[in-house]
Amino acid sequence: MKNNCLFCAIIAGEIPSTKVYEDENVFAFRDINPQAPVHVLVLPKKHIACADEIDAGNAALVGNCFEAIAKIARAEGLKSGYRVINNCGEDGGQSVMHLHFHLIGGRKLGEKII
Ligand code: AMP
Repeated sequence: MKNNCLFCAIIAGEIPSTKVYEDENVFAFRDINPQAPVHVLVLPKKHIACADEIDAGNAALVGNCFEAIAKIARAEGLKSGYRVINNCGEDGGQSVMHLHFHLIGGRKLGEKII
């Protein structure tokens, strides 16, 4: 756990969240400002600041996150698809510096950057 990290505090239960999934390595909760009917943040419990810090020593946690994403998507009934987004760093628009994946779905998603 990293001091002054909002998402570490949420994982520790110090700040409330609407949890949708938890296992040994992964925590997931509903985004406070949802952009679609389903908007869940999926993150490793271990503090990794951003995608740029992924390396051979922690990459398995990213795989764990994507396993969780598939389970959450099924549980949320996202049968016809969804989008997974990661913002990295200042230019990428990341506002909370604890690696997280936005799982967004529940409606036909509009504009795509790529
Ligand atoms: P990003 O801009 O990619 O770093 O995403 C951070 C996300 O965290 C945003 O979508 C925020 O709405 C969300 N967020 C910030 N604070 C909270 C909170 N206390 N509980 C749930 N989601 C939050």
